[in-house]
Parts: sequence; C-alpha cells; structure tokens
Amino acid sequence: MPDDDHSPSPAPRRRVRRWEWVGLAGLGIAVALVLSLTTFDRGGDEPEAPGPAAPVGNPYDDGRRTGAQAVLDEWARAVRTGDTAALPALFDPQATPGFLDSEVRRADNAAQVPFSEFAYDIGLEPETPVPSGLADALGASDVWAPAVYLRYGIAGADAQSTRKPVSLLLARHGDEWKLVDDSPLPGSNRETWRGPWDFGPVTTRTVAGEEGRPSIVLGHPEQSAMIDLIAADLGDAVAHVTDVWGEDWSRRAVVMVAGSQEEFSSLVGSDHSGADIAAVAVSDAVDHRSGTASGQRIVFSPEAAGRLTDLTRVSVLRHELTHVAARPATEDGSPMWMLEGYADYIGYHGIEARFGDLAPTLAAEVARTGPPTALPANEDFRAGGDTARAAYESSWSLAAFIAAEYGEPRLDELYRQLARGPVTATDLDSRIRGILGTGTDGLVDSWAGWIKGQLSRP
Ligand SMILES: [Zn+2]
Repeated sequence: MPDDDHSPSPAPRRRVRRWEWVGLAGLGIAVALVLSLTTFDRGGDEPEAPGPAAPVGNPYDDGRRTGAQAVLDEWARAVRTGDTAALPALFDPQATPGFLDSEVRRADNAAQVPFSEFAYDIGLEPETPVPSGLADALGASDVWAPAVYLRYGIAGADAQSTRKPVSLLLARHGDEWKLVDDSPLPGSNRETWRGPWDFGPVTTRTVAGEEGRPSIVLGHPEQSAMIDLIAADLGDAVAHVTDVWGEDWSRRAVVMVAGSQEEFSSLVGSDHSGADIAAVAVSDAVDHRSGTASGQRIVFSPEAAGRLTDLTRVSVLRHELTHVAARPATEDGSPMWMLEGYADYIGYHGIEARFGDLAPTLAAEVARTGPPTALPANEDFRAGGDTARAAYESSWSLAAFIAAEYGEPRLDELYRQLARGPVTATDLDSRIRGILGTGTDGLVDSWAGWIKGQLSRP
C-alpha cells in the first residue's frame, strides 16, 4: 500500500473472539466446563470500522477493486435473492470444481434466512500472494486474492452486521473479474468462514421480544425439535437475564443449532468444539465507542439435543445469554471465576436444587480435601476434566455466596469491576475490598465456611 497522504489509513485492528462452552456432564445439571479466549491482535485497540473499504489511492489498485467489487456485489445479490440462474456467469470457466454448485445450494439453503444485509467487502489488509503462473494457467490477464469479508446481519435480531473472512481467488478476463476459488491458497492461513447455510437448508424461528426486540433461532430441519424447544425458552430466558443484569443490553439473541460436528467447529472454532460441549457463545471485538459487540451468537452443539434435560437446556441458555448481555462490559483476560461464576449464578438462579447436585465435583473435593483455600485460577478452566468442572462449580458457588451474603447489587458491581481485564493480586484484593469490605483472603475464608454449611444441610 502506498504511503500516501490522500489515502485513508486503515483503522488499527483488533479482532477478538471469546469462546464459551458448557459441558454436558453432571448430575442432571449442566456443568460448565471450559472457557478459552482467542485473540487475534494486530496491533491496535479499536475494532475495525465496519463497511466496505475505501479505495487506497493507487490507480492500479483502484481499478482492481472497482472491477472485483462488481462481481462480489452480483455474487452477494444472487445468493441473497436466490437468483441461482445468475450465478454461473460469475464463475471462471476453470473455477474449482464444486464451487459453483456449492453456491447454488447455498442460495437455496439460505432462502428462509431474513438477512438485513448480505454483502462482500474487500478489506484493506495486504492481498494474499498468488502462485506465479496461475494467471497463465487460467488464461487470465490478472489474478488477485484480496482480503474479502462476508458482511451479514439477521433482520431484527442483529443491531449491526458482522464480518467473516473469505479466502477468495479472482481472475480477470478482459474487463470482467470472475470467481475462481474460495478455499485457502497454498501458504496462506486465511480461510473462508462457513455459516449454517453452507451445511444444509436453514429453518428459522423468530421469537417476538419485548419492545420490538426479536430473537431468532436458526438450524436445519433435522433439528426442528431442538429449535422449537429453544425458541419456546428464549423469551423467558432473555427476561430472566434482564431481571438480574438489568436492561442495558440488547435483550435479544441469535441462536444457532449446529447439525453436525463439522458445522459446530466452523461456527465456534475447531479448538472449542469437543463432543462434550453443549453450547458456545462467540462474538466479534467489542466496539468501545458504541459499547456494543457485533456477531454475538449462541451456538448449540449437535450433541446438545440428546443430552440436555429441560432444566439444563434452560440453564445453559441463560448462562450463554448472560455472556451476551455482559459482553460489552467484559474484557478478555479478566478473572474467569467472576465471568463464569456470574453466568452460572444467573443460569441457575431461582432453580430449586441441592448444593451438592449443582456442584457435585466441588462437593466430592470438599469431602476429600476440605473447602477451597484460594479463588479458582484461570488455567483451571482450560484444564478439562474434573479440574475444570470444579473450577466452574466453585465459581458458581462463590457468586451464589456473594449474592446471599452481600446481595445481588454488590455481586453485579463486583462483576463490572473485575471484568475489566487482567488484574494483579494487589488490584484484585483492593477491588474486592472496595465492594465487599473484605479482601481476597477474607472472601475465601467466609466462602469456604459457607460451602461447609451448605453441604451439611439436610
Ligand atoms: Zn460461560
């Protein structure tokens, strides 16, 4: 890119996805397992401005962008409107076999999805180098692999659109650019994001929310029963989270039900899609200027329908909705006992159950070695197995203890104070002291005593 005063400088970029999942183990109660954070930090703190990239002020690049954008616009229009007859003309005669067919299927699959926006943008990032000789092999005058994004939003449920990467190869023939391939180029780690419509026909249920805030559940016809159950739960779950968190959140959600492990991996990331995971919440980076996070999605795993009970399905949904509600107030790297304990506290809030049923792993640990002597550490949540289960259960019990002992408003205030990012032990102690009037050690001591009392109740 030329260093040109007339070209707008790209906004500093920070793309963040937060992963959250809830495990399927436990005694009839969902046990939250692991949360992990994935940060793609490219050197800035501000989220990338949405929308199409501006030309960069170089006539050669401008020409490429204008020409390529024309085929991208037509591609998006054809898929969004189901105009499959218009698709073949957009593809290079030597396009990768199957690429056109998959786009025709995609257009049909997405016919029921109420997009508020569906478009392709060319980003300002450097292009992916294309192997030499490819233009000749295609008989093209130019080939180009710019950084392309699919920008889409769901009408009503999305306050703003989200952008997902597309690895795209384009070839120019005369004045026209054509689509060649959307799989990763050799040597590039840029991938094409696949949405529910890439995995089969999509069916949707819209849930009328309060004050014109509809939520939506998307999935495939094979998951209709689960989609119906979640749609039936969703309105109450949103209201429940609002009761505890307050009204300063979107109070709506986009929920996806994955039909296969491959789809689940695509929607939440391959590191976060194990077979014991019930649901994951993901989002784009938080825009601190507007205090919002785009791309918030709650994704249920293909295993969830068969393994969640009515009770655990509702608590998982509330738990994930809590993350959605709190996302703009939550920085990555914050103490996870606070983030997860609070989400589980709202998830289980009002559910009548014995302490040992909600926290069986913790109860067993207390019986073996006594009550906790420290706050759960962030690494415990990623350890898997009983270590992670105990970390989640301990965090839930800690939040429940704080609410019981100090009241919900102070639990809420503690969340907002501790969700601001990584803290030192000294900072943690002083923030806890500022809200609860006792430091970390005092909190742990009284919490440990409370746990013993809970477990000794008949
Ligand atoms: Zn969680």
